[in-house]
Amino acid sequence: MKPEQSAPSRIGIFGGTFDPVHVGHLVAAVNAKQGAKLDKVLLVVANIPWQKEHTRVVSPAHLRYSLVQAAVAGVEGLEACDIEIRRGGQSFTIDTVLDTARDYPNSELFLIVGADAAMGISSWERSDKLAELVTLVVVNRPGTAMEVDLDQRWHTLLVEVPAIDISSTDIRARVKDGRPLDYILTRETIEFIRAAGLYREDVGDGSRGKK
Ligand code: ATP
Ligand code: MG
Repeated sequence: MKPEQSAPSRIGIFGGTFDPVHVGHLVAAVNAKQGAKLDKVLLVVANIPWQKEHTRVVSPAHLRYSLVQAAVAGVEGLEACDIEIRRGGQSFTIDTVLDTARDYPNSELFLIVGADAAMGISSWERSDKLAELVTLVVVNRPGTAMEVDLDQRWHTLLVEVPAIDISSTDIRARVKDGRPLDYILTRETIEFIRAAGLYREDVGDGSRGKK
């Protein structure tokens, strides 16, 4: 066997609510892939994101997954992943990492997080185990300092990506207000949102404190 065939593949796990997926996510994913020399990046759609569960209504998981599928279709090395939806219940990254380790037994696992998400990672479910199993790939995100203070447990790689100051929260507000979505979402994502009638109603965002 040639040496390159026996080298473990490098799999990136990029989890999110993706409600909806936007270019900030996609630009982060492709740049993390190149920066961390990953073979592929799985965009893992949360089933029930425990951090958002009681702050706002989240769109149905299968619709968020379809949005991600539409956004990455035909993009080499990016893959929509529904493992958390198939597992059901609340989505904990540690379970996803354990399942991915089973699906890719000969791989190194990299967990991609924006700087804002990285800040809270030590409070995530079974974070000790998580830190043992993955290398954390932290990408910069406007609004959060890149000097994320992570303790010694974490093997960390910082990857600089083009700073794109948008969030899914902004996008949901833009849909509701009828503001343009062009160039901050893929064309396929915009078409899907329109066809499904997503985000037109005020379903309560965290800032308003409604369920
Ligand atoms: P919301 O406003 O609903 O929280 P979001 O835009 O923050 O949505 P999430 O699904 O919460 O998107 O984020 C998933 C992951 O993507 C997180 O690790 C987050 O840090 C990262 N991320 C989101 N937007 C960006 C961005 N513009 N640049 C870099 N990373 C981002
Ligand atoms: Mg977020």
